[in-house]
Amino acid sequence: MRRIHALIILMVFVFTSCQTIFNISPYESYLKSLESSGISKSSMGKKWISSGQNALLNPNESIKLPFKSEIFFREIIPTAISYRLKYEENAKLTFKISSKGKENNGVYVDIFENNPNKNRVKNLYVKDTIFVYENNNTQNLILRIQPQLLVNQYVTLEIIENPKLAFPVKNGANKDIQSYWGVAREGGFRKHEGVDIFNKKGTPILAVEDGTIARVETTNLGGKVVWQRLGMFGQSIYYAHLDSQAVSVGQTVKKGDIVGFMGNTGNAKTTPSHLHFGIYTGSGAIDPILYILKRDTIPAKLKLGEKYLGNEVIIKTENGQIPINVLSVSSVGINYADYLGNLQNINQLTINNKIKAKYKPNTLVQNIMDEPFSEGIPIAKFNANQAFKILGYVDSYLYLEQNEVKGWVLKE
Ligand SMILES: [Zn+2]
Repeated sequence: MRRIHALIILMVFVFTSCQTIFNISPYESYLKSLESSGISKSSMGKKWISSGQNALLNPNESIKLPFKSEIFFREIIPTAISYRLKYEENAKLTFKISSKGKENNGVYVDIFENNPNKNRVKNLYVKDTIFVYENNNTQNLILRIQPQLLVNQYVTLEIIENPKLAFPVKNGANKDIQSYWGVAREGGFRKHEGVDIFNKKGTPILAVEDGTIARVETTNLGGKVVWQRLGMFGQSIYYAHLDSQAVSVGQTVKKGDIVGFMGNTGNAKTTPSHLHFGIYTGSGAIDPILYILKRDTIPAKLKLGEKYLGNEVIIKTENGQIPINVLSVSSVGINYADYLGNLQNINQLTINNKIKAKYKPNTLVQNIMDEPFSEGIPIAKFNANQAFKILGYVDSYLYLEQNEVKGWVLKE
């Protein structure tokens, strides 16, 4: 069996190396190598392909950000883990992925839009990587992680959400934002088209992104103001009530550069110093708060079950005490492979490793099978005269261990 594994890995490596088609993803390229070598027709190959497809069609977990998970891919269980997540247009996502395996392999990381077309938005084959994802539109995404065939692979994943733009006030904090979008102004005559961020007079006001200064002027409403353009067709950023401006028209600025200093000019002259901050698109002002609001970036703790990652444990279900393989543990839930190798997802793990089954097989010699069905494949002979452990059961089959072989025996 080992030699077959080694041969398959070698063959796949050769085919992968010969890959000369560049317009397909690393995942598709690997898939093609499995097809051209015939491995895709083997039972392991078929499982690898179907688990990848299932992961895309039925993502196991819907995740909340910030998110963290640990995955242990087992060579005997070809599987793919996938997550559903929402990308908000006002944010950027940082993905941190690290993968360890004996063969020094990476993992396929594929991100799709969760729509009927399953448009690909990112495709990588990586060992250790950090990348930032952002888009102009809010999107529902699916992240799929899958290793190559027949490898044991330990993968850690972290996804952090940050605001798309930097905070516009030096050393500012969320609590300094004290007047919000849409609040009535001038007795309801107009609505507040931005947010107000309070701090001491003279506090540096910082460019929230790279861009070009479009206007530097003084108006009745805004007092001393600076307009910054983000890209040719990008949004316009509006900094108002400045005590003084520190840039000139046409100047390019980098994120974090000082564009001016906080004040209370314009119609703010009777209020404490603050920055009026606005974002304008082609179709008018938008609520800017989530573009700058700092997020919680520390993921929740992993669910109970972390210590079982990569192990077989027995859990209690309606059908009996069944063995499962814990494949991933995250801050949301647990993914495991059931005794048929199918991927399942639960929120909490209730381990039941100390079961006391009353049943004893009374047939002296019986086959130990790989699955609790009459179609199961015999993997060893059971001997009732030798010591054995009953680990679990489902329906009329016992899951037991004898001579280091684990498998199923029909209960009589
Ligand atoms: Zn304001």
